[in-house]
Amino acid sequence: MSREKPLPHVTETTRPYWEGARLGKLMLQRCRRCRTAIHYPRPWCSACWSTDLDWVEAAGRGRVVTFTVVHQPPFEAYAGDVPYVLAVVKLDEGPQMMANVLGIEPAAMRVDLPVRVVFERRSGGFCVPQFEPARD
Ligand SMILES: [Zn+2]
Repeated sequence: MSREKPLPHVTETTRPYWEGARLGKLMLQRCRRCRTAIHYPRPWCSACWSTDLDWVEAAGRGRVVTFTVVHQPPFEAYAGDVPYVLAVVKLDEGPQMMANVLGIEPAAMRVDLPVRVVFERRSGGFCVPQFEPARD
């Protein structure tokens, strides 16, 4: 088993998302027709099916919708992280995304916790958007 955490599989559709993350930016697609903000990256708008999409930088802030505490590492590379928090975060722009919440004791987690994006550096220069409690 690998001791390295998994890396993203980059496609033409997801490339702007991952390139933004390398620069410390959380990128979202936005529909030019209906203005819906979209996550995860895809070739069409999740609201109106338009393929006329643009990329915008998100504020990187949101609130926890739900979460779980992971005690059983899914890969050997996560063995040193357990227990850790896996959450669904509703971004201020509207879309929800799944990520870890770092920098908090699992017992202190709660629904509606305000969070802000941070970037976890992985091998190959990849940076994976995660969250931490917003303290400001
Ligand atoms: Zn749309």
